[in-house]
Amino acid sequence: MSIRDHIASLEELSALDAEIRHLDEQLTTDRDALAGTKQEIARLEERVASYSASIAEMGRARSEATQDARQLLTQVEKSREKLARARNEREQNAASREVEELRRLHKDREEEMGKLTMLEAQAQKSKEEAEAELAQKQEQLAALDASTTGKLSEVERTRDEKLVLRKDVAAKLPKGVLSRYDTIRRRKGVAIAATETGTCLACQMAVPPQLFQRILRGDAMELCPHCQRILYYKAPPPKPET
Ligand SMILES: [Zn+2]
Repeated sequence: MSIRDHIASLEELSALDAEIRHLDEQLTTDRDALAGTKQEIARLEERVASYSASIAEMGRARSEATQDARQLLTQVEKSREKLARARNEREQNAASREVEELRRLHKDREEEMGKLTMLEAQAQKSKEEAEAELAQKQEQLAALDASTTGKLSEVERTRDEKLVLRKDVAAKLPKGVLSRYDTIRRRKGVAIAATETGTCLACQMAVPPQLFQRILRGDAMELCPHCQRILYYKAPPPKPET
């Protein structure tokens, strides 16, 4: 197998690698979009759950406060009766203080109930907003799923076919050439570069004339001294006739 044959296989390989890379990028983009939407859904579900938990917590606190307030009212009634039964000024003052104190406690509890009712309503509103956003995201995911799942498996199939083709092409090349190609490809993305008139078409730098002559003769595989890609000769396109 001559250098020219190797170059032909490398060109084929490079074209396949470009296609495979493009397909892989497509797969990554689509999978990332799906994963991103799923992540947002999980975040919203967490938020809804946390609102539900705090609403429940506030509900419990409110019913405790309600119960307390009711009990305090009963106590106020009892103290009032005590006040009515007071036999002297001392008893009267004590009962009156008691009524005042209990009324104050009752007022505190009612204020607390009011505050909790307001906070509960706020949390309920936030929860409903999060639920609406969640429903929207779930719809988005369903649409995305429907549009990408079929596409993903098609892209995967195409990529697998290209990988099989690549294996066939790679098998034609000597191990040394292939590993050199792969090493450069990993570093550079594209491992080969053409030159038509002595300029590397990958990095646009001129190569030394002696090197260009050697490439033209095709006795050995040469690298571009500037970008280190495998450099090969390609006949310039024929000039359009005037
Ligand atoms: Zn170059």
